[in-house]
Amino acid sequence: QAACATGVRDGMVVSTVSDRAREAQEAVLEFLLVNHPLDCPVCDKGGECPLQDISFGWGAGRSRYIEPKRHYKKPLELSPLVAIDRERCILCFRCVRFSQEVAEDYQLVCLERGDHTFVGTHDGRPYVAPFSGNIIELCPVGALTSTAYRFRARPWDVEEAGSVCTLCPSQCNVKFTVRDDTRVVRVLARDNAEVDDGWLCDKGRFGYQAIHSPERITAPMVSDGGVLREVSWERALDEAASALKRSGERTAALVGGQTTNEEGFLVQHLMREVLGSPHVDSRPGGALDAGQARLLARPDLSARVSDIDHAGAVLVIDTELVDESPIVDLRVRKAVRRNAAKLIVASSRPSTLDPNAAATLRFAPGGVEGVLGRLAAALDSPRARGESDGGPDGLDAAAALLRDADDVVVIWGERVSHGGRGRQAVEALIALAGALGLADRPESGLIEIPAGANGRGLREVGCLPNAGPGLADIEAPGMGTADVRDALGDGLSALLLVHIDPERELSGGWEAALERAGSVIAFADFTGDVMAEHADVIFPTASYAEKEGTVTHPDGRLQRVRQAIGHPHEVHPEWQVLVELCARLDAPLDAHTAPMVTELVAAAVPFYGGLTLDEIGGKGLRWQERDAASALPAEEPSDEPLEDAPDVPSDGLRLESAPSLWTGHVTENAPALRFLAIGPRAELSPDDARHLEVRSGDDVLLAVNGDRVRATATVRSAIPPGSVFLAPGMLEPGAVEVTKA
Ligand code: SF4
Ligand code: SF4
Repeated sequence: QAACATGVRDGMVVSTVSDRAREAQEAVLEFLLVNHPLDCPVCDKGGECPLQDISFGWGAGRSRYIEPKRHYKKPLELSPLVAIDRERCILCFRCVRFSQEVAEDYQLVCLERGDHTFVGTHDGRPYVAPFSGNIIELCPVGALTSTAYRFRARPWDVEEAGSVCTLCPSQCNVKFTVRDDTRVVRVLARDNAEVDDGWLCDKGRFGYQAIHSPERITAPMVSDGGVLREVSWERALDEAASALKRSGERTAALVGGQTTNEEGFLVQHLMREVLGSPHVDSRPGGALDAGQARLLARPDLSARVSDIDHAGAVLVIDTELVDESPIVDLRVRKAVRRNAAKLIVASSRPSTLDPNAAATLRFAPGGVEGVLGRLAAALDSPRARGESDGGPDGLDAAAALLRDADDVVVIWGERVSHGGRGRQAVEALIALAGALGLADRPESGLIEIPAGANGRGLREVGCLPNAGPGLADIEAPGMGTADVRDALGDGLSALLLVHIDPERELSGGWEAALERAGSVIAFADFTGDVMAEHADVIFPTASYAEKEGTVTHPDGRLQRVRQAIGHPHEVHPEWQVLVELCARLDAPLDAHTAPMVTELVAAAVPFYGGLTLDEIGGKGLRWQERDAASALPAEEPSDEPLEDAPDVPSDGLRLESAPSLWTGHVTENAPALRFLAIGPRAELSPDDARHLEVRSGDDVLLAVNGDRVRATATVRSAIPPGSVFLAPGMLEPGAVEVTKA
């Protein structure tokens, strides 16, 4: 009997050590090894191979087979990331089932039959998919190996260090495989059912290579006559401190999503308490009303990631999860597949989740506010209640699914709150949450997918122009990202950039803004051309494998980022540099270690109230589940009726940003991932492409409010006419003119 396929019954006696059981175990192993080459001494899996362990524990130690074994050409590239050695494959089909039943990319299949069976892709093309690396970890033998890790180390050469991936808001739990205390040579999943279900995306699995890129900045730099040169820490700190002193309250700080809570807290402290400037922001687009931020943080409105598993309905609003939080995408797929959850996708860009959805609501870029308002109203419509005939249209069908579900999880993208009517769109979202009664249902709630990996934590520790630590109101709010850009050189003098490259990550006009700035001081690991030209001081930053601190997951779970390797060359942790800057500006802080900064954060954010690193532990802790959560200032939804959303003009083309997992410094600087890097792409509908006389692959020029960029046209049949999608940070969303270049 196979234990994994036999149900436990009353009165059943299970014997695992009888002669019969022993004989069966040996027979199974003898069978599994019939074709296995037993090349353990040269196999990458040797020393950490389940088949090796099981053979040692339960095998006969000899085989009766003397026949020649199967031979294949080996190893072959299953993809640029995964090598396959078919002789070692024991045909357990775990990899195939992952592809079919977890990632749902349906690329891996079993080809041929009987003893000729082998694993491959259905069309013979490389297995390229966002989660492909998981099959390496799933394979119980050395048949699937990582091309990036093959022959780099043996298990006894390496150590494992647990931490968190901070490359996107999923914040997956990881184990770094570390060699010689200095190099990360592999990243494995560290199973945490409340966060990642044990999966990683390929960016998180292979992106570690960027840590050791020769292009990385590993020493402080100062601009000498317009050219950046490596200098001593003393000189870089002196230059930065004098620039900040000169500019004082005319300084602004922008904080990128990979910044930890501790670093973010210190940045806002430096700005507000030391320089007297309120201008600090961590959001790329539009201001978030402080009251709305508090309301959205309310524990009764927050859902856990694991609530998705049991939800009756999941509503995804204006976020493409596979690009913006890939592991949440897998959760949603699982909920639909295993629990028959009803999925409703409301987005302007066609989603990879559309085929799994029971209803899709497509709206023109900028039209999310209107859809949210109409959906809330439709919840009470007779058609959604099934009280009138006529067959529900998309909106009523979606409303009916949401009304009928026991628990509803609403996953929404930070993009909803961007732009000129972001506040009203969030108001409509809050009204929808109210109409769905999310606050009264224990396993229902909202999960926001922020634009940056630690977007939620940065907001909560005070990196907002209108809210301090703990989302507390600020007497005189400062400028947000776009206002900072416009005020540089005219009201604002110095700019502090922490883990953010405005040229790549923020919309239009930043090159001119940096040129106008009196001083630009950046914390960065890689520089683009614009930053290299305009930065006066660059401090090297520690990678996520070199940091100590905490980040806050989109569902409120504080997680520990732990140092796995030493700092290379002249890299110092950012918290130390920020504390040193405070000291040089005559405002010393009593923080001499990373945990001391965490203590400062836990003391300053009332609803983190005294949270300790030990409490957070290896699995993280949601602050909403501690008593201190009651310290979040109470906030009630406004009873003002919703404003009517303005119509989105139906003529001309409307631009919306569409993030991709594969843009950015990590993909470009990790050799294994480079083949996935994509340049600027403008996605168009076939109708618009025909009208503009462009085809996929043509160069096009896009112009919004006088800002122009060049991109490669990609024609997708699912894109609705009138919509154009471009990576974020290239142009402001809005009316766009597209011409063939
Ligand atoms: Fe073969 Fe490994 Fe796939 Fe199992 S997981 S079928 S052993 S390649
Ligand atoms: Fe890292 Fe995000 Fe990928 Fe998880 S999904 S491994 S957090 S990049």
